[in-house]
Amino acid sequence: MSGRLQHKVAVVTGAGRGIGAAIARAFIAEGARVVIAERDPATGAAMAASTGAMFVHTDVSDPDSVAAMAAAAASLGPPDILINNAGINVFHDPLATTDAEWRRCMTVDLDGVWHCCRALLPSMLTAGRGSIVNIASVHAFNIIPGCFPYPVAKHAVVGLTRALGIEYAPRGVRVNAIAPGYIDTPIAREYWATFPDPAAERRKAELLHPSQRIGRPEEVAMTAVFLASDEAPFINAATIVIDGGRSVLYHE
Ligand code: NDP
Repeated sequence: MSGRLQHKVAVVTGAGRGIGAAIARAFIAEGARVVIAERDPATGAAMAASTGAMFVHTDVSDPDSVAAMAAAAASLGPPDILINNAGINVFHDPLATTDAEWRRCMTVDLDGVWHCCRALLPSMLTAGRGSIVNIASVHAFNIIPGCFPYPVAKHAVVGLTRALGIEYAPRGVRVNAIAPGYIDTPIAREYWATFPDPAAERRKAELLHPSQRIGRPEEVAMTAVFLASDEAPFINAATIVIDGGRSVLYHE
């Protein structure tokens, strides 16, 4: 199937690499015009050059930067789709978390999602249609010790998804979330690299899964296409978990 996002304008945050880049590529393959709202000028420009998408240098934690991105994106037409993908890992023991680290996490992982929703919702409501997909995490439901305060932000992203999905459904805008499990992206590889034996750490992660492997960014992108498209008109305020079943597995 192709052309599932024909005539749609999509903003994808953090689309310079990883899951966001896979989503941007999948959207372009399905006919969407895509805005890459990325903080890293090198990866953002490279994605634009290789895909023909529009790159707008954006820091989602900065409301002024997001407002400027929304204005630039509007030159492609009113956005039909917003994928709030930009996010960072901030992993600490709770009591060892400094105020600066708490803020660094919340300003990107939670405030960034809200800033982008707030900037793009008005034109979606004017058009009477829109689909927002927030990339949360399995950390929105399950806790791994030592990963604080990331799960706090991701729980809140699901809360924001549900609140906005209910608020604006009568006006034609759906808001959903995807909760990926372990996905093979640069952020995951950077995490394994903090261990003395990164390959062993990767294998350990793979074996935690019923499928004995971790996920691929393209597998998250497939669900983002579905939720963003007109194939999911009655899916709203929902969160779809993509973790190969890991969070259902009860460890003996
Ligand atoms: P990556 O770090 O590989 O990619 C994230 C991209 O977002 C980077 O290009 C990064 O740029 C950009 N970004 C970070 N902060 C900002 C910002 N303030 N404004 C704009 N862009 C920004 O991460 P993933 O692809 O792995 O993760 C994408 C999303 O998926 C995140 O929300 C993450 O929490 C979530 N997720 C990932 C999982 C995984 O296993 N990979 C599992 C569950 C959820 P820069 O390089 O400058 O930081």
